[in-house]
Amino acid sequence: MRVLVFNPAGKESCIREECCVGGYPLAPPAQAALAAQYLHDRGFDATLIDNQTKGIPEAGFTRLLEGSDAVVAWVGLYGTLYSDVAILKAAKARGVSTLMVLNDPIETLEREAMERFPYIDVAVRLFEREMTIAEVLGRLKAGKGLAGIRGIVYRKEGKVIDTGTRPPEKDLHHLGSSVETLQTLDLKRYKEGLVVSGRGCPFLCAFCLFQGTVQRTRKPADVADEMALLSEHTRFSYVLDLNMFHVKPFIGELVKELSARKIDHFWKTDARVNEVDDATLRSMVKAGLAELILGVESVSPEVIKAIRKGITPQLALDAYRTTKRAGIIPYIELMFGFPWDSQRSARESMAFFSKLKAPTIVGTSVLRPLVGTLVYAACRKHRLIPELQLDDYVHALERPLITRTISLDRRALLRQVRLLGARTLTLNAQTRLSGRYQEIHGRADGRERLDESVRYLKGFAYQKMFGA
Ligand code: SF4
Repeated sequence: MRVLVFNPAGKESCIREECCVGGYPLAPPAQAALAAQYLHDRGFDATLIDNQTKGIPEAGFTRLLEGSDAVVAWVGLYGTLYSDVAILKAAKARGVSTLMVLNDPIETLEREAMERFPYIDVAVRLFEREMTIAEVLGRLKAGKGLAGIRGIVYRKEGKVIDTGTRPPEKDLHHLGSSVETLQTLDLKRYKEGLVVSGRGCPFLCAFCLFQGTVQRTRKPADVADEMALLSEHTRFSYVLDLNMFHVKPFIGELVKELSARKIDHFWKTDARVNEVDDATLRSMVKAGLAELILGVESVSPEVIKAIRKGITPQLALDAYRTTKRAGIIPYIELMFGFPWDSQRSARESMAFFSKLKAPTIVGTSVLRPLVGTLVYAACRKHRLIPELQLDDYVHALERPLITRTISLDRRALLRQVRLLGARTLTLNAQTRLSGRYQEIHGRADGRERLDESVRYLKGFAYQKMFGA
């Protein structure tokens, strides 16, 4: 059975990974590569096409699809969904079976997409989607129906049927290494590498799609093999894992595997602030860890409690300082626009910012309430948002999903978001120009990203978004 695994081109490069979607330096599609490899290892004639580097226009899809029996498309929700599904429409018109992997996989949206786009045969839900894809394709190959497969939304006798999520596996060892598939891509075209090392997180943050999910890791040797390959073409990779620091033995093994390969490569990953420690960080630095994304989200005790983040402002500051002492650039992520955000929480964020020194990156974003989360329910309860649908998320980059909080009206929220964004500009600029940042990313990259942030703030995206 010939299967085309397809990562669409966007207007700008972006990633469409299960736990990370949005604008990003051009990087190979990690999860799609794993799925293509998984299918290949199980006897499917699977080819991965990354259209970010191939640049095949829609008019060329017919030719691309020649000889294919099925297409599996990785589809991004924010801004790109309507163009990302074009390959599925072209495939269906040629009688090719169509499967969609939607990221973010927000509860209810896969079903809504199926109702809206009749040319999609199957939407693949969480978890372990590569297993579900193989199961669906196996049934199609045998000419059998899809009844009984967990983790899909599919069509039967004119109805859209949702079979719920697939139970997660204990680990991700079934994935193997995707080196063979990655080698089919034009790796020298990518600016950065992208590797998945694990999935799931047992914590209970009330805004997060993956809260309370079983944490599963891949085999460290497979992750290291992929990083070794990418290190031949790029100097920096993002190792995607919701919570690697929760499984310290995995980190120990990964460090061992990377050190054994003597890879000259920098990388970053994510961490909760209550889980980083000096010894672990220092061991990771020796294996190339150079940046660490610290998911702080809020430094307001009231908001932290309401979103069940389970940290304190002091813990956030301690983790920040420990990260810096280890020689790693901290990347602090803060969100604003939670229902409980106020003038006071904005002041608390500003006070926190004043304690940060370059090289440090700060990312501030406006909350996107995701259907199915407790924060979404709170936004509804306080009448801050209407019921959100597919279209709202697709246009979330131009029209914010949240425009006020319990105590801040539209104008006041915009003002706080602008102040927070502007406050980070100097720090991020100093960081991009710092020796350490340019050692990690190269001089040209530092300047390019600095220009990007200045353009962004000058164009004042938030202001446009809020229609102010
Ligand atoms: S720590 Fe919280 S935000 Fe991060 S993945 Fe876990 S539940 Fe989600």
